[in-house]
Amino acid sequence: MLIACPECAHEVSDRAAACPKCGFPIAEHVAEQRASEAAEHERTTRRRTDAHTDCAPCQGRGFVMFEWTDDDGTSKQGFDWCVRCKETGRLPVVHSAAGYFAVAIEHVEAFIGGEIGSDSPHVTSLGPDAPPPPSYPAAGPAAGPAAGPAAGPAAGPAAGPPAEPPAGPSSEPPAGGGSSQS
Ligand SMILES: [Zn+2]
Ligand SMILES: [Zn+2]
Repeated sequence: MLIACPECAHEVSDRAAACPKCGFPIAEHVAEQRASEAAEHERTTRRRTDAHTDCAPCQGRGFVMFEWTDDDGTSKQGFDWCVRCKETGRLPVVHSAAGYFAVAIEHVEAFIGGEIGSDSPHVTSLGPDAPPPPSYPAAGPAAGPAAGPAAGPAAGPAAGPPAEPPAGPSSEPPAGGGSSQS
């Protein structure tokens, strides 16, 4: 494709490393322009989906375990509630031309509105494929009428566990102090 050199307006191939007339770095300029067009396109195609996925920093648990050593040398354990997912363990999923993103709850509007980019620390790129659903059922006061389908004939076999485990890794104990770092 022929473009006008931004420096001297000479017609030059967009694949040329430099303008043969004035030496302007054409290829570099074209690459920058394409990158900024792609970024703009990505920014304007962000849409919130109905989906949620595990909050990565707290592994879908809503809290983060940590250990420390006291002044007298004893090791202690504690936990912090996860701010990113507001303790729910799950993050809203946003889709754009660049794929799927998990966004910290408080920053979803800013991301969709284009105020923050996909490189923001509040945004995690999930790639081109839809992310898996949350590992743990929604819990806490926000769950409201979420008990829907289970509320009906749930009084049947009293022996069965009331909470039907969703598809996914539910065998992992919720409070396991995993030492694996990702
Ligand atoms: Zn030129
Ligand atoms: Zn979290």
